[in-house]
Amino acid sequence: MERIKTDILISGGGVAGLTAAAAFGTAGFNVICVDPAPPITERDAAGADLRTTAFLQPARDFLDRAGIWNKLAPHASPLQIMRIVDAGGETPEPRLTKDFNAADIGDLPFGWNLPNWLLRREMTARLAELPNVDFRPGTGTARVFTRSRQALVTLSDGTKVEAKMIIAADGRGSPVREALDIPVKTTRYGQKALAFAVTHPIPHENVSTEVHRSGGPFTLVPLPDRDGVPSSAIVWMEDGPEVARLAALPEADFNAEMTTRSCGLYGPLTLASQRTVWPIISQMAERMYGERTTLVAEAAHVVPPIGAQGLNMSLGDLRVLLNLAVEAPHLIGEVSMLESYHKARHSEVRARVAGVDLLNRTSQIEAQPLRDARAMGLNALYSVAPVRKTMIQLGLGARGR
Ligand SMILES: Cc1cc2nc3c(=O)[nH]c(=O)nc-3n(C[C@H](O)[C@H](O)[C@H](O)COP(=O)(O)OP(=O)(O)OC[C@H]3O[C@@H](n4cnc5c(N)ncnc54)[C@H](O)[C@@H]3O)c2cc1C
Repeated sequence: MERIKTDILISGGGVAGLTAAAAFGTAGFNVICVDPAPPITERDAAGADLRTTAFLQPARDFLDRAGIWNKLAPHASPLQIMRIVDAGGETPEPRLTKDFNAADIGDLPFGWNLPNWLLRREMTARLAELPNVDFRPGTGTARVFTRSRQALVTLSDGTKVEAKMIIAADGRGSPVREALDIPVKTTRYGQKALAFAVTHPIPHENVSTEVHRSGGPFTLVPLPDRDGVPSSAIVWMEDGPEVARLAALPEADFNAEMTTRSCGLYGPLTLASQRTVWPIISQMAERMYGERTTLVAEAAHVVPPIGAQGLNMSLGDLRVLLNLAVEAPHLIGEVSMLESYHKARHSEVRARVAGVDLLNRTSQIEAQPLRDARAMGLNALYSVAPVRKTMIQLGLGARGR
């Protein structure tokens, strides 16, 4: 059976794993990236990931460093304004609207929105340009055995890989994390998210809109026009049974319900893709490393999709890890490097997980008096300019090391 040596074995080729492979490959490290599920790179193919990712400003710099941004830029929709709408009154109408404008903090937009299936297409194209990256879709991590000097990973096809370091990017149920017995703390909300694309007659003008009523936020994020008609990606969070009902509705009824939920802000909404359903949890690993191993992205932390924190936090993990590896390549996978990574990321991630948890619980509220208090709170926070700016900067994420 084949036995190979590498600097880094990346377990998982989701968006985080593919980005890690491109980033470490571009920096000159030898990388093997494995994933049992080959990436689906077409919008209309069965099983395509129809979510979109709003990459915030710091993420763009990192994607640039990984040689990916130039491939993504032509497809990206800028996010200039984040609009928060409270529709928590007796009837589903906007009663408070607050705009956070990127112009308040600089010349750049807050971020850029891109479909996940397209990210996979462009990221795998980038990996194909890197001779030191060996991407093996269709092959997974089967067994992990670590010693102080190296990790030995057996792949699902029997290949044995000796690596200086494993990057576990294999999702919320991370098999690598399980193999290393790293505990997680999980919070369940009884919520799910519907993710899909729509068209609408009123242009979005690069505004990302979050409508709060109850059950969770209803978020519209700009996409490029579709056949000349304005288009947005929607994430609609509700209690699980309500999501099951909505997902099964005939299309015309679904269009009517989502138009009501959106308060008609962009005119009548028309479904323009399949509806996909995602379970919502918060989760945090107790440690972000094990022997010769680092946990990144959803293997380390999961948050509800609010404020575009999930993958942006993951790129924060990768940025810190790559900086450490480039500063001292001979220390890759050594305890001192793993501890530095954990120290730089764990408290920042914990604070973000707690912050998004709070926002989610606030948006879920059913009781009218509490919904009124939520609207007052938003109004108060927004009215103080320095607080508003700080909120924007916190939302975008610290640049870290
Ligand atoms: C509805 C929704 C909207 C979102 N919107 C945003 C947003 O706008 N901005 C943002 O920053 N974040 C957003 N997020 C979060 C973001 O989508 C996730 O953080 C991201 O997709 C998770 O990526 P990942 O690569 O960590 O995990 P995954 O995508 O789950 O990838 C894990 C990979 O590991 C593979 N794997 C499993 N087992 C093995 C094995 N044995 N060996 C090797 N590989 C294995 C799987 O096949 C999979 O491909 C959103 C999330 C949801 C649910």
